[in-house]
Amino acid sequence: MTRSRCCAPRRTGSTCASPRSPAGSWTTTTGGRTRPPRSTAGYARRVVHTGLVLATVLSLALAAGCADEGGDAGRGSRDGCCATSSTTGGPTSSTAPAPLAGRVVVLDPGHQLGNARFASRISRRVDAGGFAKACNTTGTATGEGYPEATFAWQVAAETRRLLERLGARVLLTRDADSARAWGPCIDERGTIGNPGEPGPTGDVRVSIHADGVATGSTGRRAHGFHVIRPGLRAGWTDDVRAPSERLAVALRDALDAAGFARSTYAGDEGIDVRTDLGTLNHSDIPVVMAELGNMRDGGDAAVMESPAGRKRYARAVARAIRAFLTG
Ligand SMILES: [Zn+2]
Repeated sequence: MTRSRCCAPRRTGSTCASPRSPAGSWTTTTGGRTRPPRSTAGYARRVVHTGLVLATVLSLALAAGCADEGGDAGRGSRDGCCATSSTTGGPTSSTAPAPLAGRVVVLDPGHQLGNARFASRISRRVDAGGFAKACNTTGTATGEGYPEATFAWQVAAETRRLLERLGARVLLTRDADSARAWGPCIDERGTIGNPGEPGPTGDVRVSIHADGVATGSTGRRAHGFHVIRPGLRAGWTDDVRAPSERLAVALRDALDAAGFARSTYAGDEGIDVRTDLGTLNHSDIPVVMAELGNMRDGGDAAVMESPAGRKRYARAVARAIRAFLTG
């Protein structure tokens, strides 16, 4: 058994901010583990948001397949979770089954663009896997001011498009990239799509982030990607640790093949292992968190800021997920 949910705090040197919190009160016990309070504020906000825009969104979604990349459209489905409605899809003209037909992928675009405006809400403490941690952080940004939240959203949106073409159903952990919204908290990010949760059950979860590490202190350029997989956290990650390692290797290899450089400052051979991330600890399905590059590095930032660079990231993520699910 495993359980997990939500986003991750940052390492020393990162520019991400941290939060703190109120007390929630859901204490469902699953598999012997007592779960902490859910981020009810974020949930309520999304429900309200969803309600307000539901009529519009339904018509837009039906016509356009849900929110566009970088858009602010709301999304229906389980508690605001951005479940696309591509069914067993793939090209309708093909008689061969789509390679990911029937599979469900959870994509977690890190942070929310408006987190900085809701400091008290994102700083409230939530359970991160048997210990308390801030609900979320603001994320980082490039030197030009391109936010991590928007980068993560845009890469996730493109990845979703690619996966849907392969027949997968894709759930997003937030329904927009909006300066007027915040969250969800890390516990929720890591829980959406878990078995027993409302909505479809995911086969895999990939959390998309970019790092914000200052360069220069060592005289060595800090750049490149690293993929974070869950380490052993008894009662939390036991059940997903091994498949998550395979997922991490698949993603590392796909990023390698796409020409991205491995991190010069974190992890080992492009892969890091952590036990302090709520998004990983809460997940009951194979999970990794990708730090796709360092936004404080000019070279990485230029790639992230370009539409072509984001598509390259998205293709690598989609290929890795396909390889993991079909390999
Ligand atoms: Zn982040």
